[in-house]
Amino acid sequence: MTEKEASAAEHKIKMQKQQREIRARIASAKTRRGVIIYLYGNGKGKSSSAFGTLARSLGHGKQGAVIQFIKGKWKTGEQEFFKKLGNVEYHVMGTGFTWDTQDREKDTAAAERAWEKAVPLLKDPGFDIILLDEITYMLKYDYLPVRKVTDALLSRPEKQNVIVTGRDAIPGLLEIADTISEVKEIKHAFNQGVKAQKGIEF
Ligand code: ATP
Ligand code: MG
Repeated sequence: MTEKEASAAEHKIKMQKQQREIRARIASAKTRRGVIIYLYGNGKGKSSSAFGTLARSLGHGKQGAVIQFIKGKWKTGEQEFFKKLGNVEYHVMGTGFTWDTQDREKDTAAAERAWEKAVPLLKDPGFDIILLDEITYMLKYDYLPVRKVTDALLSRPEKQNVIVTGRDAIPGLLEIADTISEVKEIKHAFNQGVKAQKGIEF
């Protein structure tokens, strides 16, 4: 056997072993229930990932809902896109919390109003996937009690999936989420002076 053939044979054995292990793990995962996905960290990609998963669900004909907990100054592309679809309910926090209000009372009221939109959705088994985008800011600044949010998430319908995003690692959310990914900044174009772009940033 040549060195190349030996290496190919070794590779094949390794891949077969990996395939057996993966198949065994797939076969052992038997539970069917909705999950809480928590995406946090200081890098770019949390909301993009969440909306990607939402698109994946809607593509399968599932019913979704989005609540965006920050009122940005720009109309986002995702809002324009998903709002047009029939199977997604879309709410953006009204006046109130932005980086510019700096008014605790107003921000708390806005957070509560947005949360009130989420409450019935988190009780409705007709919604397969719910995205609570940027909700961690509301928890970090105590505009919403963490316990109120985690209780609602834990008592949601069994099959319902929820995605929560935001920069902060909130202990109560880390505790209850099923899938957690930290998106870590390695580089961001902004730090090289590149202006935020329509279609990339918003
Ligand atoms: P995206 O919506 O692009 O997936 P994100 O949800 O991970 O981003 P957020 O903290 O919600 O990040 O910030 C949203 C906006 O801030 C986006 O326009 C994004 O490009 C920008 N942003 C994200 N991370 C950074 C960073 N490390 N430095 C500068 N700007 C950032
Ligand atoms: Mg985001």
